Amino acid sequence: MKKYNFNAGPSILPREVIEKTAQQILDFNGSGLSLAEISHRAKDFQPVVDEAVALIKELLQVPEGYSVIFLGGGASLEFCMVPYNFLIKKAAYLNTGTWAKKAMKEAKLFGEVVEVASSADANYTFIPKGWECPADADYLHITTNNTIYGTEIRKDLDVNVRLIADMSSDIFSRPIDVAKYDCIYAGAQKNLAMAGVTLIILKDDTLGKAPRQIPTMLDYRTHVEKGSMFNTPPVVPIYSALETLRWLKAKGGVEAMDKLAKQRAEIVYGEIDRNKLFRGTVTDVEDRSLMNICFVMADEYKELEKPFLEYATAQGMVGIKGHRSVGGFRASCYNAQTIEGVEALVKCMKEFEAKN
Ligand SMILES: *Cc1c(COP(=O)(O)O)cnc(C)c1O
Repeated sequence: MKKYNFNAGPSILPREVIEKTAQQILDFNGSGLSLAEISHRAKDFQPVVDEAVALIKELLQVPEGYSVIFLGGGASLEFCMVPYNFLIKKAAYLNTGTWAKKAMKEAKLFGEVVEVASSADANYTFIPKGWECPADADYLHITTNNTIYGTEIRKDLDVNVRLIADMSSDIFSRPIDVAKYDCIYAGAQKNLAMAGVTLIILKDDTLGKAPRQIPTMLDYRTHVEKGSMFNTPPVVPIYSALETLRWLKAKGGVEAMDKLAKQRAEIVYGEIDRNKLFRGTVTDVEDRSLMNICFVMADEYKELEKPFLEYATAQGMVGIKGHRSVGGFRASCYNAQTIEGVEALVKCMKEFEAKN
């Protein structure tokens, strides 16, 4: 039976990305050696990094004065590297969920942290609005897509201080105005690559301002200066990122991904709103994530939660169980998710409604 992958992360990648990466693991560029057994400094691998960086700059229209680097450690390491490198006295954080909270926790090790707003009391079912950021904050940190709670800030905010964003789960799903950010980071395993690499976009002239000694590996300047080659980079994940970026470009880039994301979301949210068995969990419709679509059984059908999960699983749906802090269901619809995939899910929802 055909499987439809709705995993939240690691998650769906284009099939051809998996296949092409697998081929290179067997035989890298016809060299007779595996991608996994050549030097990262080999003349063959440098072009992989160079092309990936060039494609990122092209696809996101990264302006002059920014660097693009690849690091290990996941987005979680950036929770600490960001304040290490950017927090001088005070940082502001918008608390929109688990990942934002984890980022705040690390920042507190380096200085004063101001929570500009939080929707924690409402289990993060909306994005707080109408807040103000202290003008003397060194930066404001936001999480553009809240993977667990299914909320998303799908626009580039105008703020009065430097803006830093965790875009782990929605990068490359829409055009962004990079010039509005000093730092964008994204663990790759949601929308870009196999797990093990983090993409970071940095505004060069904002580096080196924090008044502290930074261990070499945790200093962004180290990796900018060495073009992500200070130490051995995660070569296989980076290669898979390159294939995803090529795929993205061939598909029409981030504008096409934005359009597709809206189409998928309309199909799934449309059914959630129509189907009497289900309801969406996000209270402000404008905050609904196009990447992670969260829904639960309507109150009067609570007992059908497990049967629906079993039914959908039997029809080939994979990974639709919601995160334990939300419950219900979560259909992750990253760039590689097809219209066919979301239509298959909606078909399950309709059939299940007819049976109940
Ligand atoms: C998954 C995720 C993370 C954590 O990523 P790791 O690479 O596992 O550290 C951080 N932020 C967001 C928004 C995520 O979705």
